[in-house]
Amino acid sequence: MFDNLSDKLDKALHVLKGHGQINEVNVAETIKEIRRALVDADVNYKIAKDFTNTVREKAMGQNVLSSLKPGQLMVKLVKDELTELMGGEAEGINLSGNPSVILMSGLQGSGKTTFSGKLANYLKNKKTKKPLLVACDVYRPAAIDQLHVVGDQLDIEVYSDKGNSDPVAIAKAGIKHAKENGFNVVIIDTAGRLAVDEVMMTEISNIHKAIEPQETLFVVDSMTGQDAVNTAKAFNDILDFDGVILTKLDGDTRGGAAISIKSVVNKPIKFIGTGEKMEAIDVFYPSRMADRILGMGDVVSLVERAQEQFDEEEARKLQKKIAKNQFGFDDFLKQIQQVKKMGNMKDLMGMIPGAGKMMKDIDVDDDAFKHIEAIIHSMTPEEREKPQIINSSRKKRIGKGSGTSVQQVNQLLKQFDQMSKMMKMMQGGGGKKLMQMMGK
Ligand code: GDP
Repeated sequence: MFDNLSDKLDKALHVLKGHGQINEVNVAETIKEIRRALVDADVNYKIAKDFTNTVREKAMGQNVLSSLKPGQLMVKLVKDELTELMGGEAEGINLSGNPSVILMSGLQGSGKTTFSGKLANYLKNKKTKKPLLVACDVYRPAAIDQLHVVGDQLDIEVYSDKGNSDPVAIAKAGIKHAKENGFNVVIIDTAGRLAVDEVMMTEISNIHKAIEPQETLFVVDSMTGQDAVNTAKAFNDILDFDGVILTKLDGDTRGGAAISIKSVVNKPIKFIGTGEKMEAIDVFYPSRMADRILGMGDVVSLVERAQEQFDEEEARKLQKKIAKNQFGFDDFLKQIQQVKKMGNMKDLMGMIPGAGKMMKDIDVDDDAFKHIEAIIHSMTPEEREKPQIINSSRKKRIGKGSGTSVQQVNQLLKQFDQMSKMMKMMQGGGGKKLMQMMGK
């Protein structure tokens, strides 16, 4: 996420490294580089200029008072301004109604349907919410089917009416259905077009007026940069929406939309989409995002994601198994699957301070675990349970079955063995033992 921008800002801030003091010359040079980095990231020129002017003024003003080194001071100022520009505090969504009605708007392909599913799932996981999805795209039957597929996958009901060509009527009927059947959130997915046009705008505006949603969200593909900002403006003029959803941030190396949108439409970014999977949704925290842009990682979000995937019951079972020396490859596979649910590997790496930069040129993709999974899948149930029985002829068979080499199988077995030992040690009050083993 935002790799290019992070890289360029890092270089710009590097200018001050080694300088004992901030002065007009070195600040001017840094500021010029920062502005260039922002413009290259597709941030609107005026926003970039205002941004750097503010940073410059603050840098010159604070220099005398600050005990920070020039480089550190500038990083702090840039971080604070980026946070401010992206909205300051995180803002939640209004779920006050019963049912609370959430209307999705945006162009076709922006990720509306995907996000409708993600949001429904996110709310459902909060336990107190029972969401209903409503399909209001009357032009593309495939869009209705797509929402049903998403709903089936998440076990969330989808209301649709394929013969009906009036989206306002469908939206109203969906809300009625929710009231009668105990749903407390209604998420309405609407039709988008490839570009802003009058028919689409009139239609979404009619739905908006007729159902008076608690929350109107505008969904936009962050990779479209300045276009995203212009589209946001067009939709906001008509709908006066409540918040922006930025999707596809996983593929966005520049970050221009994330940085500019708030100051253009004066509406907060509320959520971000970071992948195609239903779990790839995050609340947007401007300050955490600023940290990530500046390569400082985002440990808080990483821990939160881990917690979301954490199942206490499973963890307890696992602990017992480890204690009894019964941790096998099936359990290992489950662990891998949990990690995968947290998001794509590169994205996760970016949340660890410093790691994103280090891993920048290394190709960590979602398939990082593919070989491991293939090897485990080629083992018999008995082998998974008791890896010690895997002799050389079994290794050959497993290698063949998984399309890997005996060497790779050996490597996994060794890693697994080390991991099991380590887990066992952590269990038996063994933090100390572990430290000893590591030579501390
Ligand atoms: P809609 O036309 O606005 O309903 O858009 P869709 O929900 O059908 O999304 C269009 C495409 O973008 C689909 O292929 C989605 O899988 C993909 N997509 C949606 N959100 C994300 C995201 O956050 N990251 C990535 N990488 N792809 C996404």
